[in-house]
Amino acid sequence: MKTKSKTSMPLAMQIFIALVLAVIAGLLMQSHVEFTESYIKPLGTVFLNLVKFIVGPIVLFSIMSGVVSLKDIRKVGSIGGITVVYYFCTTAVATVIGLTFANLFKSFYPVLSTESLTYEAPEGKTMMDVFVGIFPKNFVEPIAEANMLQVIVMALLIGFAVISLGEKVEKTVEGINRWNDIFMKVMEMILRLSPLGVFCLLCPVIAANGPKVIGSLAMVLLTAYLGYIIHAVVVYSFTVRTLGGLSPLKFFKGMMPAIMFAFSSASSVGTLPLNIECTEELGATREITSFVLPLGATINMDGTAIYQGVCAVFIASCYGINLTPGQMLTIVLTATLASVGTAGVPGAGMVMLAMVLTSVGLPIDGIALVAGVDRIFDMGRTTLNITGDASAALIVTNILEKKKKV
Ligand code: ASP
Repeated sequence: MKTKSKTSMPLAMQIFIALVLAVIAGLLMQSHVEFTESYIKPLGTVFLNLVKFIVGPIVLFSIMSGVVSLKDIRKVGSIGGITVVYYFCTTAVATVIGLTFANLFKSFYPVLSTESLTYEAPEGKTMMDVFVGIFPKNFVEPIAEANMLQVIVMALLIGFAVISLGEKVEKTVEGINRWNDIFMKVMEMILRLSPLGVFCLLCPVIAANGPKVIGSLAMVLLTAYLGYIIHAVVVYSFTVRTLGGLSPLKFFKGMMPAIMFAFSSASSVGTLPLNIECTEELGATREITSFVLPLGATINMDGTAIYQGVCAVFIASCYGINLTPGQMLTIVLTATLASVGTAGVPGAGMVMLAMVLTSVGLPIDGIALVAGVDRIFDMGRTTLNITGDASAALIVTNILEKKKKV
């Protein structure tokens, strides 16, 4: 399915133009931040709300329809297995990249005063909280709150039930598939508005975070972005080429609409519909995208892991602490796990940074040092997060296609 406008300009081009215009308008409106917050941002919020409204039904119905079409519970298990292993490995590599760059550039970081810092950490989540949170306790809440992991569990359980009931529920299978088509159509309609959404989401961010705000944190931001770029160019190019059988250039080109959207919205869950479109255009099958992408939007956050590694080193250096190799290893572990617990919404990664800092005995007040420019970190980390999910969808498709041929 392709979202093409009748005016024939491809969606990727429209989004790109919107992005450039948003940067220009944002820079011009730096002295009118209030105007952009009051009149432009709400339009972006409307768009993002529409996307969030459709994401729950899309995930529920597309996973059910995907599971049912696989006709085999074991096959779902093998897709899940490959996906989760890939997600964990790439996230651990991402944290190592983040830590390596942060240590290389550490001497260029400013030493900001930590004396008057206070950061009100929202209630922390333990790993057991994250585990318990995977399972839904009623039918409506997961959809109402766009809790993707719970929606995935619901869809899998219903899908498995449909498979085991076999012919008895043939009509229901037909119904699930048709409802899936309907929600996909609604999604396509909403996505036509994405250039407008991108403009309205990004312009206020640029107006409020112009070059002035970035100021002293420029080097830290640069380190994180370098990590994001290297991870995408080296790790994803490698995995997409070797395991996905796809040229990296084609991959990044095909992903552009989703990449630009993720950059503007800073939400993996919000980018999900566009990510599904882009990966399917690149050859991933519906049965795979419907499962691998929502799962990735919830548990796979390579950008977030890089950001957490970089920030941990920066915050430690402001407190005059040198992290030991043992502490670095702990960060690799906790950042990988923390990124699983990070929701695919703006700002979630910063909250989970508390878990990483605590694991190596750093004060969570240090988060206040980076909080002011979190959105700038977030735009890049979200972009990397969704690119990683897409690479998994293509790789799993390729691996399963190959298995079929054997
Ligand atoms: N905003 C990120 C995402 O949606 C999560 C984060 O804050 O790191 O993927």
